[in-house]
Amino acid sequence: MEIVLATGNKNKLKEFREMLESDDVSIIAQSEFENCPEIIEDGQTFEENAIIKACAIAQHTGRITIADDSGLEVDYLGGAPGIYSARFSGEDSDDDKNNQKLLKELSGVPKESRGAQFSCVIAIVSPSGLKRTVKGEYRGCIIEGYRGQAGFGYDPIFLDRVSGLTYSEMTSQQKNSISHRARAIIELKKVLPEFLKEVNSC
Ligand code: IMP
Repeated sequence: MEIVLATGNKNKLKEFREMLESDDVSIIAQSEFENCPEIIEDGQTFEENAIIKACAIAQHTGRITIADDSGLEVDYLGGAPGIYSARFSGEDSDDDKNNQKLLKELSGVPKESRGAQFSCVIAIVSPSGLKRTVKGEYRGCIIEGYRGQAGFGYDPIFLDRVSGLTYSEMTSQQKNSISHRARAIIELKKVLPEFLKEVNSC
């Protein structure tokens, strides 16, 4: 079956393809559909924003759609940037500006207080409005500078304490074996058969 992924983020698309595609499931990028609506992510939680994105694109495409809302929650900052991760450094934010701002805010904070977690909520929505959400989290800590070249977002400054590698120092297989998104996709795979049964019985 084909599932639309509601995202303009090429890195998320790549990770979803690597982890979710199989003989039975293929992912269609949102970019393959014309005139997709601009989505205002004005929810107060990852769940609300994932549902907002998936509903908008499911309605536009008439296809079963998934959307991921994700972000980094830093203990020392009381869970910020959280749902504001993509725009942490303001309107003209980019990954580098976001990372620089976070490193500045954690400047001088000792190692033991630099804990953080990535969270990912995936919503799956049918054109008729059936919805499910699943969640994945992964804990690590924020280091004091960039390490590694791969990935996107906060990957170069997020350290996995188990392997001693940042997400950016990992191969995509390594990141996909532990990440918040991988954990959410494992949960999605568990609920998918029941969800499809419900969609087909409506
Ligand atoms: P969203 O597209 O609104 O869900 O924003 C997600 C933001 O969270 C991204 O722009 C990144 O800044 C951050 N983020 C989410 N997942 C990851 C990841 O796997 N690695 C690094 N940063 C991530």
